[in-house]
Amino acid sequence: MKITAAEITISAVKPEQYPAGELPEFALAGRSNVGKSSFINKMVNRKSLARTSSKPGKTQTLNFYLINESFYFVDVPGYGFAKVSKQERQAWGKMMETYFTTRGQLRAVVLIVDLRHPPTKDDCMMYNFLKHYDIPTIVIATKADKVPKGKWQKHQKIVRETLNMVAEDELILFSAETGQGKDEAWSALQRMM
Ligand code: GDP
Repeated sequence: MKITAAEITISAVKPEQYPAGELPEFALAGRSNVGKSSFINKMVNRKSLARTSSKPGKTQTLNFYLINESFYFVDVPGYGFAKVSKQERQAWGKMMETYFTTRGQLRAVVLIVDLRHPPTKDDCMMYNFLKHYDIPTIVIATKADKVPKGKWQKHQKIVRETLNMVAEDELILFSAETGQGKDEAWSALQRMM
């Protein structure tokens, strides 16, 4: 995919603030610090379009990035931060639920997990939530550069099994360091536009 333009359009908290129009959207979900911002930046060849490592306690927003004026990446706040209060967690859940269940333009959710470790309880909850609402999901197992090539298959299997992934959902190994998996990820997204 040749990227000609990538810009943030809006940081939204409420549906009234979501961008108007019918362009397809892909939401990006993942545990805080998993490498979500790095994934977005690598995919669109920008060093810092998405801010890396957003701290808990900051305003939690859905960030809409317009790509090539033809679709959106929607960065959703990371989950699984131990220090987040119950109130913040509930606000997060409500915002996510509203977005995931009402947004017709949402084509798929890209769920980012860490290839090095088995998916966490929060990762499983997120995946189950998406499946509960029948949302197509692409799982990206990132930081592949940190796992020896000989172990990729084994780790990939653990990710699939721990999340209990449905057969239709794709699992793609990725590295924001090396760019591995980038073409595959774009192909998967383009099939869903
Ligand atoms: P976010 O909180 O999910 O947006 O995570 P970030 O994108 O900020 O990444 C968290 C940390 O992981 C940063 O120090 C990144 O440099 C590092 N990181 C992200 N992706 C990769 C990757 O594919 N390989 C390696 N080696 N490090 C990565």
